[in-house]
Amino acid sequence: MFGPPGSGKGTQASRVAVRLGIPHIAAGDMLRSEVARGTALGLEAKPIMDAGGLVPDDLVVRMIESRLNEPDAKNGALLDGFPRTVPQAIALDAMLAKRNDRVAEVISLEVPEDELRRRILKRATTEGRSDDTLEGLAQRLKVYRQDTAPVLDHYRTGNTLIESINGHGDIDEITDRIIAALKHNGVTVKTA
Ligand code: AMP
Repeated sequence: MFGPPGSGKGTQASRVAVRLGIPHIAAGDMLRSEVARGTALGLEAKPIMDAGGLVPDDLVVRMIESRLNEPDAKNGALLDGFPRTVPQAIALDAMLAKRNDRVAEVISLEVPEDELRRRILKRATTEGRSDDTLEGLAQRLKVYRQDTAPVLDHYRTGNTLIESINGHGDIDEITDRIIAALKHNGVTVKTA
C-alpha cells in the first residue's frame, strides 16, 4: 500500500488485509511500538520520526525482514509504509527473491496535497501523533517527494503491476475501489 502521508494507507491497508486473509504489516506502527516500549531501535527512531525524517534503511529493513519471517506471513503480507526509499525496495526485492517470491502489486493511493494537509491536521486533534504538526507534515511531504515517490518508478521499471486508486472520498468507497481493482487483477478477495 503506497501513498503520501495522510493518504489513508494505514486505514485502507488494515481493511484490505482482512479481505485478503494476510497480515497487515505497517512500518510506522511497528516503529511507534518500538518507541513506546523504549527499545534500542525505538530510542534511535523517535527523534527522527518526530522531525518527519526517515529512520535509516538498514534498521527498517531488518525490522521488516524479521516480521516477514514470522509464520503468519508465510502466504504473503500487505506492506504499508514500506518500502519508503529505493534502497529499501531493492532490499525487499532481494529478500523476497530468496523465497522465490516478489511484490505482487503496488496499490498507490492518490490524494491531492491540500487534502493531505487537511486530513493530517484533523488527525492531530484526534490521535495525538507526535509527528502530526505543521512542520512535521511539511518535512514528511518533502521526504515523500524526494525519497519515496521514486519507489513507484522502481516498480514501474521492474514491470510490477501498479494500481492507482483515487484516495479522495468516503473510506468505504475507497476500500471498494481497491477491492474492485484487486478482483479485476484476478486476486481472490473474501466477502466483507
Ligand atoms: P507512518 O505511520 O507510515 O506515517 O510513519 C511514521 C514515521 O515512521 C515516518 O514519518 C518515518 O519517520 C518512520 N517510518 C515509517 N516507515 C518507514 C520506513 N519504511 N523507512 C523509514 N522510516 C519510516
